[in-house]
Amino acid sequence: MNRLAVIGSGISGAVCASQLAGKYGVSVTIFDSARGPGGRMSGRRETTEDGKELVFDHGAPYFTATNADVHRVVADWEARGLVAEWKESFGSFDFISRTFSDYEKDGSCKKFVGTPKMNSICRALVSEPGVETKFGAGVGRLEWLEDEGSWSLNGMDGQNLGHFKGVIASDKNVFSPRFTDLTGRPPPLDLHLVPELASKIKEIPVDPCFALMLAFEEPLSSIPLKGFSILNSKVLSRAYYDSSKPGRSRQSENWVLHSTAEYAENLIAQTGLQKLPAATLDKVAEELFQEFQNMGLSIPRPFFKKAHRWGAAFPAASISEEEKCLWDGKKKLAICGDFCVSPNVEGAILSGLAAASKFNDIFSSL
Ligand SMILES: Cc1cc2nc3c(=O)[nH]c(=O)nc-3n(C[C@H](O)[C@H](O)[C@H](O)COP(=O)(O)OP(=O)(O)OC[C@H]3O[C@@H](n4cnc5c(N)ncnc54)[C@H](O)[C@@H]3O)c2cc1C
Repeated sequence: MNRLAVIGSGISGAVCASQLAGKYGVSVTIFDSARGPGGRMSGRRETTEDGKELVFDHGAPYFTATNADVHRVVADWEARGLVAEWKESFGSFDFISRTFSDYEKDGSCKKFVGTPKMNSICRALVSEPGVETKFGAGVGRLEWLEDEGSWSLNGMDGQNLGHFKGVIASDKNVFSPRFTDLTGRPPPLDLHLVPELASKIKEIPVDPCFALMLAFEEPLSSIPLKGFSILNSKVLSRAYYDSSKPGRSRQSENWVLHSTAEYAENLIAQTGLQKLPAATLDKVAEELFQEFQNMGLSIPRPFFKKAHRWGAAFPAASISEEEKCLWDGKKKLAICGDFCVSPNVEGAILSGLAAASKFNDIFSSL
């Protein structure tokens, strides 16, 4: 029994699993509480009342690859057709002067997207030989079996998910009190089992965000950019013309807008973190859309409008910038994710790579 378990199929967990299976030949089982892979790189499929299929990247809209190791990995994905560069015009909009400015120069910072969807990358990585996936399988408890020198994983309802020679946990909720806020249960990993790691772990504050998915019949021809940050608005922070990404359907004009963290925090302070009623999400959608219209650009009414809450869109601290992951070699437990390095896809990839490489030295004993 040499299997490793990866908790989470976001980009850090998917990269880690793919490296472990592909480079080191280890069998890996990925558990994710969600219905599919991707985490915060997920896509959203919606069907309108009259049967139109719409797809949105409602999480990360794009990512960069400035680090050489990340660049190598992304170049491989590009060669496999999993990512493409989003070559469009980007800049910012100032709510006070009502002008677009700071147009980014071509090539100043390449923006990559998954094709045909953002989560295509994770989907491909977790489908590689040697990687098994269990979706809808939240891990509720990790127990260390001293006699076996292995980990026993249990699901949220207590069922045994198997014994594993090592575990990679790719979400901070696995050890964070936030898990208790969300579920009323203790976090899956008892930090007393890994005292060396416990001293390096601190509570990680998070910035929430609402994403607004919009679909229009007509092009928003008053907007000269395909993506822009929004300055001096308390409500909106960014806007992206999702359908302009490579590999997307152009049958409708799909846009995704992001709220400011301030707007999302205020709302969460009133509602808490439990599932939001549809009426509250509708109200959020209308407020964000109103602000979009307040830009003064004659934005028409969309035929589709829906908000999604990301309660923890961005970690506001990094806990392992040097090592890029946390590692207990004795118990073969790695903790990785963007919160280890930087609050973006690039940080998550680096962390996933680092976690996989930690197992390199111990494979002979597996
Ligand atoms: C709205 C938004 C905009 C963003 N914009 C950008 C951007 O422009 N550029 C950029 O680079 N990045 C952006 N990001 C950030 C980027 O998406 C993240 O940094 C990155 O995707 C994090 O990957 P990860 O693997 O660390 O975590 P995640 O993607 O969060 O993956 C963690 C996974 O673990 C699973 N999980 C958690 N607990 C358990 C459990 N107990 N059992 C089983 N499974 C579990 C979760 O379901 C999830 O799938 C954005 C994010 C959001 C939400």
